[in-house]
Amino acid sequence: MYLIDTHAHIYLPEFDADREACLEAAERSGIGSVLMPAIDASTHNLMLQVEKNHPLCLSMIGLHPCSVKENFEDELKEVSHHLDQRPFIAIGEIGLDFYWDRTFTDQQYQAFHRQIQLAIEKDLPIVIHSRDATDECIEVVEAYPGLRGVFHCFSGNTEQARKIMDTGFFLGIGGVVTFKNAGLDKVIRETGLSQVILETDAPYLAPVPFRGKRNQPAYVKLVAEKLSSILELTVEEIAATTTANAKKLFRLA
Ligand SMILES: [Zn+2]
Ligand SMILES: [Zn+2]
Repeated sequence: MYLIDTHAHIYLPEFDADREACLEAAERSGIGSVLMPAIDASTHNLMLQVEKNHPLCLSMIGLHPCSVKENFEDELKEVSHHLDQRPFIAIGEIGLDFYWDRTFTDQQYQAFHRQIQLAIEKDLPIVIHSRDATDECIEVVEAYPGLRGVFHCFSGNTEQARKIMDTGFFLGIGGVVTFKNAGLDKVIRETGLSQVILETDAPYLAPVPFRGKRNQPAYVKLVAEKLSSILELTVEEIAATTTANAKKLFRLA
């Protein structure tokens, strides 16, 4: 079985004590790649260092909407600078987050659009973070026909899922699908797997039975197992389809 964790912040300090062990556990669980979304300049170098030491881990670059503050122009310069230095697998994570703070709504939109332009220039997929802003993010994506990417940690309704699929974007499904009352099982039964990829968002959002604890890439297997019971397919079938989807989106070998 070959799984891909398409979203894990394995470079954060939460893993400093046992990063090697976590990545070995991931490999034992059949995880062949761990894709690392960027956050901001305070962690870009940590991420690049982990990538250097672990062939399993591949970097994206981008400015997270929660890190969009007064200095977002400087942060965007950093993103451009990194993009000029070397190839990346995606621009991410980028988007809109109105859950924590709406102070920088306007700047969040500017940063989102500017990074979409970078993705178009470099012909890269984007990884969208949308919290309390899914409809707003869908509206932005609809304005860029041909753009490709994923709504990471998708937890919306069937109508939102359909709109996202109509734009050609993928749904990033993680631990939330294992939460009771999240309602994501019903959505997945409607949408099927054709535009689904798997993720953990480690260290956040651990699936049941580890809900509330630190998440890690090996747990992407629990997400696959949950989808297998929802869709009445084998875990191998879930792995085959979602891995093929991830390889296609991120152009992995
Ligand atoms: Zn996110
Ligand atoms: Zn994330």
